[in-house]
Amino acid sequence: MHKQPGILFDRRYYEHGIPQLSLENSGRVRNLYSTLEGPEYTRQLRTYRPREASAADIESVHSSFYLEQLREHVNLNDPYSYDRDTYLMEQSLYTAALAAGGCLNLADRIMGGEIDYGFALVRPPGHHAEPGRGMGFCLFNNVAITAEYLRRVHGLQRILILDFDVHHGNGTQAVFYETAQVFFISIHQDKLFPFTGQAHETGSGKGQGYTINLPVHSQFGDAEYTFLLGKVLNGVVEQYLPQIILVSAGFDGHCEDSISRVLLTTHWYATITELLKHLAHEACDDRLLFVLEGGYNPVSLEASVLATVESMLHPVGRRPGVAYSERAARILTNHPLHGFWTV
Ligand SMILES: [Zn+2]
Repeated sequence: MHKQPGILFDRRYYEHGIPQLSLENSGRVRNLYSTLEGPEYTRQLRTYRPREASAADIESVHSSFYLEQLREHVNLNDPYSYDRDTYLMEQSLYTAALAAGGCLNLADRIMGGEIDYGFALVRPPGHHAEPGRGMGFCLFNNVAITAEYLRRVHGLQRILILDFDVHHGNGTQAVFYETAQVFFISIHQDKLFPFTGQAHETGSGKGQGYTINLPVHSQFGDAEYTFLLGKVLNGVVEQYLPQIILVSAGFDGHCEDSISRVLLTTHWYATITELLKHLAHEACDDRLLFVLEGGYNPVSLEASVLATVESMLHPVGRRPGVAYSERAARILTNHPLHGFWTV
């Protein structure tokens, strides 16, 4: 039976943000939260509030030296003392702990069977945060903390993370580079911040082959993305059989988001959600959790998140068709994992 999807947001996420100085500010999500509080959505969705991630949750990914460093920078009272993107204010560490804890709350609801699909609409984002370093607006790596939690607390051994934010998820990759228990796939614009995520980065040690990077040209859009992810996800899910699918859902590859030159449309976010619903249905009892990463045009961000949520309102339907794309196919034939995961 189709269950109502769960979404999570909280106005306490506004407490970290410098509207005049940073693209990553609370103005990104204010209209979105208000829309989701309207009767049309509250009737059809289960709405959740976050808890704070515990020190043990956060330290499962981040070093105590890094956490100590962050606390020292908060005390300096200079938002940009840590680095030029990643600001720190009085409430920042509390807000970041609520962001990670929001994801954990939805992960618990999914594992408990209360919901199948979840979307944690958290701030600040997390996928650039490495074990010992914050960067690119990210303090705590929300999706990595969630995957570690699913291993530690729920005993999962095969977790798939798809990162379709237009920037490479360097932090998430760093956390899981040497393990086969978390499979990381990132599709992102090539030669864009943070300038990592080349195709030859495929994992190491026991994790060799369990990281797939798909750096794409600017000007790629819906057709190329659907072709690439359709091929790669089908192959990986069929062979790896993940027990849950986590999505680092950044919406900054939208054609109206000026931070990138990728040309995705609002409709694409519904298409990828439909595909992920199919894969989660085949492999892992429909367990599918989205975590908000980037997206800096509040209008296209809201429309794209709502397109995702609309898709989650319906049971698995027809599998989206995948049309052949010559220039996307070339990325696959040149990929070092070509033939390994039927990539
Ligand atoms: Zn991004």
